[in-house]
Amino acid sequence: MVATYLNKYKYTINLEIFVQGYILNTFPVKDEDMIVYILTENSLKSTYRFYGARHSTIQVGYKIDFEPHHNIKSNIPMLRNVLHLAHPWNANRDRMLLWQQFVMLFYPHLKELGHLEGFYLKLLDWSALRWGKQNPKRVAIESYIKLLKSEGRLNREFNCFICNAPTKEEAVIARSFLPACNSCLHGAKIKTKTLNSLFKSNSSLEISDEDVENLWLTLLEGL
Ligand SMILES: [Zn+2]
Repeated sequence: MVATYLNKYKYTINLEIFVQGYILNTFPVKDEDMIVYILTENSLKSTYRFYGARHSTIQVGYKIDFEPHHNIKSNIPMLRNVLHLAHPWNANRDRMLLWQQFVMLFYPHLKELGHLEGFYLKLLDWSALRWGKQNPKRVAIESYIKLLKSEGRLNREFNCFICNAPTKEEAVIARSFLPACNSCLHGAKIKTKTLNSLFKSNSSLEISDEDVENLWLTLLEGL
């Protein structure tokens, strides 16, 4: 009945064409137009945004509701009808800058993949819900451990990834939170016991601010 009514009036609004996701990256093209990369439930979508007066603000890290409008002249959809689904902390400059750093890490990690599991969008939702109330760097670390577990990449053996020897009391943490021994890799050290408890519990509560800072900096090297 509804479909008949819609067809009759050539009215094309269809709720299913609206999609939600996080802006992971933007890339400028000609005349201030840009390509906007959005993490949605099942893919990292590339969309084309025309520069124009009626557009709402596009910022990396924003969660948006949008309409990917397909057009025969272009092989990527136009970004239309953008609605910012704001989190209360979006207006907090410090938290927003940390969020942008965190979210941008997902772009190189996911850009080559076609179909995505809903896990990544849920992970950003999970993180965003906590970002305003907790220390964002701690949220990011906990979130990253969830990601490593989900991708089967979390090293729980505590053997140095270079020489394979046990890391003893302290480990140096490399990208992907891989532990290394002191003689193989130089860098900030963290107690193996602390790391073990973090990996097991997924909670950064017992970790010192200094360790959090070092883990955050390691995380910024890439997912
Ligand atoms: Zn080693």
